[in-house]
Amino acid sequence: MNPEIISLGELLVEIMRIEKNIPHRVVGGVYKGPFPSGAPAIYIDSVARMSIPFKISTGFIGTIGNDEFGDSIIDKFKNDNIDTSKIKCIKDKPTGIAFNQYNSDGSRKFIFAAGAAGELSPNEIDEDYFSNIKALHIMGSSLSISESSRESCYKAIEIAKSINPEVLISFDPNLRPEMLDLKTIIEISKPVLERTTILFPSGEEAEMLAGIKNVEKACKKLVEIGPKIVVLKQGKDGCTIYSSEKTNEIKIQGFKVKEIDPTGAGDSFDGAFIIGYLAGWEFEKIGRFANAVGALKVKHFGPMTNNTYEEVLKLMEST
Ligand code: ATP
Ligand code: MG
Repeated sequence: MNPEIISLGELLVEIMRIEKNIPHRVVGGVYKGPFPSGAPAIYIDSVARMSIPFKISTGFIGTIGNDEFGDSIIDKFKNDNIDTSKIKCIKDKPTGIAFNQYNSDGSRKFIFAAGAAGELSPNEIDEDYFSNIKALHIMGSSLSISESSRESCYKAIEIAKSINPEVLISFDPNLRPEMLDLKTIIEISKPVLERTTILFPSGEEAEMLAGIKNVEKACKKLVEIGPKIVVLKQGKDGCTIYSSEKTNEIKIQGFKVKEIDPTGAGDSFDGAFIIGYLAGWEFEKIGRFANAVGALKVKHFGPMTNNTYEEVLKLMEST
């Protein structure tokens, strides 16, 4: 059966400095990895692990190199029951690699070798694969990594909408002004934003997309002009949900945990939120569930976790 929830875009492995404050230029410093990664990949892995009780199927469309880094991503996806039949191996490129390094002040530095990560092309977006589509997730990073990846995302949205007009399109605009100029961010996000049901911005991303320098006002404006729901991600402070069907926003506190590695928290959060939403839960429960998934992620070293639905419920019940 073709998957009900699909995501697409860059597949990467992450290689991480074990210790903080050791710049990449320091010769002989120790790295750990590979860790399967890439924002849309972290999303789909979170969806797959959280969807088990609901028997929802998942699939991913992307590109890896013909190497063992690529194999490590496929292994993780297979382990979590994600369909990998649409992951293409690019013969003459290595799998994408991000070298990641943290500092005590919370800042991080990447060295990024794109390799095969941006090689997805619209030819790979096959209509048949979307025959059971319920939800499609797009990441801003997949719109910016290459033109062909961006066109693939736009095509996937059009196909998904034509096959199922009720399809849930979710969008995490994980684009930062230091990566791309504001005008380009707005331009490439627009075709997705217009078709988005649920938007998952951080405060800065909401301000950029709305063109307003006030997070709350920006989220309210976004709900007025486009997405039905805007879920503002607020790190350790949890999230706030703005909905066109509710007069007041809903603030949901985060869980108190020791942060080891924040990479992937936002993407994991998005995946959990979509599962709660499709399950038909109240916003309070969905937000708490997604906060719990994000909190368990930051306790874990590496962008993807192995946390189960039961472990998430346990955290929710314990506090
Ligand atoms: P990124 O794109 O770097 O993953 P983001 O801005 O998309 O980040 P965050 O707000 O950093 O997303 O994190 C997503 C969610 O994970 C938060 O809304 C919260 O529920 C949870 N979370 C993140 N950091 C922490 C933390 N230190 N303690 C508890 N929960 C956290
Ligand atoms: Mg994010």
